[in-house]
Amino acid sequence: MAQRDYYQILGVDRNASTDEIKRAFRQLALKYHPDRNPDPSAADKFKEAAEAYEVLSDPEKRARYDRFGPEGVKRDFGAGGFSWEDFRHFSDIEDIFGSIFGQFFGIRTEPQARRQVYRGRDLRVNLEITLEDVLTGKQAEIDLTRLETCEQCHGTGARPGTSPRTCPRCRGTGQVVYNRGFFRVASTCDYCHGEGTHIETPCPECDGRGRSNRRVRLKIAIPPGAETGLQLRLAGEGEAGIRGGPRGDLYAVVHVREHPDFKRDGADLFCEKPITFSQAALGDTITFPALDGEVTLTIPPGCQTHRVFRIKGHGLPRLENRNERGDLHVQVVVQTPKRLTEEQKQLFLRLAEISGEKVPEGEKKASGGKRILKKVKELLEGQ
Ligand SMILES: [Zn+2]
Ligand SMILES: [Zn+2]
Repeated sequence: MAQRDYYQILGVDRNASTDEIKRAFRQLALKYHPDRNPDPSAADKFKEAAEAYEVLSDPEKRARYDRFGPEGVKRDFGAGGFSWEDFRHFSDIEDIFGSIFGQFFGIRTEPQARRQVYRGRDLRVNLEITLEDVLTGKQAEIDLTRLETCEQCHGTGARPGTSPRTCPRCRGTGQVVYNRGFFRVASTCDYCHGEGTHIETPCPECDGRGRSNRRVRLKIAIPPGAETGLQLRLAGEGEAGIRGGPRGDLYAVVHVREHPDFKRDGADLFCEKPITFSQAALGDTITFPALDGEVTLTIPPGCQTHRVFRIKGHGLPRLENRNERGDLHVQVVVQTPKRLTEEQKQLFLRLAEISGEKVPEGEKKASGGKRILKKVKELLEGQ
């Protein structure tokens, strides 16, 4: 559904004051209230104005909307976008129309007892996956403890069989009004904290809170190509709302564990392969396990150390298009032998000689000398 700009909907300037916004909403409400306007699109227009007003009348939400657009306020509403449950200004509408409004929309706004509903909090979990999981995608299962609507009292907070009663002190208005000289002063009722109702005998299961912790198991589909920091949003899987308010969302944040053999850059993989002097000089064909199975690499004769070979299509799937794959980059590293047998040493010396390299004379003699010494030692020890 294409969304219109909230300022446009209310017909106000981007830097309109809160008062101007309220006035604009009031005018639209009068114009589009379905009781007054028989046009079938009136109800939608009215709701649209309410959504715009809900966001722009709240400085915090408005700031987020100004910065990020509709995306910035998405999480304030349920999965299906703005609904009347998200609207917190029934008092304003009641000021305009009296109490007809709530009846029309089937929303219980008892004129005195204005019990607020609240959206449940969003939750965040971390998901650790391996590089192999990135290759194939993964169906992860997580266990978490979250606040759910209490099953005993169905969220009312009152002991089953009883129900919350109208607050005796404020008679359900949520406010206590008293006269002080010429002034009438209204303040939030401290007996019911402005809720208008009072729970006589709290539900023993949730202590009157209406919600209790429960352990749940969730399945989360991690797409192939997922990267560290990727956020997966599971709408409505956050905490339960308070008193029937909408549920929060769950955000699963992906973290890809380091792999001992492969490094990653986007969809490309990188690894190192040790090869011998002879393989580098003579060339060879080697087979080794990549992340997605065996690969074969042909090393040409005369290969230099640290040369990088690209094996196409053996990287990771791309997150944005999983049919496309990155490449595997293999860097060969020529290993210089650390310890030579006498025979190997003689061969290297011979190789140096015929290559026209200057053979270190002393080295040649020393090795010959050492050999004799060794023989003598063996003879002595043998006795
Ligand atoms: Zn309960
Ligand atoms: Zn009260």
